[in-house]
Amino acid sequence: MKPLICAALMIGTAAAALADYPEKPVTIVVPFAAGGPTDKVARDLGDVLRKQLNQTVIIENVGGAGGTLGAAKVAKASPDGYTVLLHHIGMATAPALYRKLPYSVQNDFEYLGMVNEVPMTLIGRSTLPASNYAELRKWIDANKGRINLANAGLGAASHLCGLLFQQAVAVDMTTVPYKGTAPAMTDLLGGQVDLLCDQTTNTTQQIEAGKVKAFAVSTLQRLKTPALAKLPTLDESGLKGFNVSIWHGLYAPKGTPKPVIDKLNAALRAALKDPEFIKREAALGAVVVTDSRLGSAEHKKFVEAEIAKWAPAIKAAGQYAD
Ligand code: ASP
Repeated sequence: MKPLICAALMIGTAAAALADYPEKPVTIVVPFAAGGPTDKVARDLGDVLRKQLNQTVIIENVGGAGGTLGAAKVAKASPDGYTVLLHHIGMATAPALYRKLPYSVQNDFEYLGMVNEVPMTLIGRSTLPASNYAELRKWIDANKGRINLANAGLGAASHLCGLLFQQAVAVDMTTVPYKGTAPAMTDLLGGQVDLLCDQTTNTTQQIEAGKVKAFAVSTLQRLKTPALAKLPTLDESGLKGFNVSIWHGLYAPKGTPKPVIDKLNAALRAALKDPEFIKREAALGAVVVTDSRLGSAEHKKFVEAEIAKWAPAIKAAGQYAD
């Protein structure tokens, strides 16, 4: 066959393959353990994307190192639209925390759009001798050097929230890292650790059931979710300006073809309008993104702004990993 005809045929086949995308299951990599907040968002989103893409959606949990192992896996995956990443604010905190991050947040991903924003709650084991934030503050001061604070590893949302909390109260705590906050929650419920700052998507049900003590929310405004509405903000509790809100976004490896990106973006936009998804998110205190950050360029711009926003606080805390 003449080279030109051969090239034309190859281009035609590639175009047909893109038009038929997805022809096999799409895997969403969750860079944290199963059963945690990021995993919950991925599974709920997966349920709707399945319908939108008319294809099986598999959730793969690749926890560890604050979400950087899962992100690295997707950065190196084949850029064909069959492996995507659902990640949170850790996408923006890792560059300031890891000296040798095995991927570039800005250069190794296609930005598929933001998903949601989720506040965090400061909670403690049920046996903690404090029932509100003022009592917790006294307990912290009386127990300096003996307090365990769980998190999902350096760069996780729980790490960021815990780091800022320790800075704000000027008390160092022993941090206990897990592969996600699902196992951290298990140990908190078992009384093995004292405190955890985690997304409402993981804490609301435990708070409602009275299985953990809830002390405050991490945002400047109180929350509307009934189970959380009476919780004070950390800001009003004396930690002026304390404000951490977590967001999730969807990413594909750099070089994923534009038609595939467009299909994934369209499916995501449709999923975020799904009434059942919106209802499930709201019940857990999360808000689905509806603004321009659903577009690739705005999503990337937002992540870059978050990198710049958190780097000074992280650097001031002097926490680094290789
Ligand atoms: N909530 C976790 C965090 O600390 C991650 C997870 O398990 O989803 O970022």
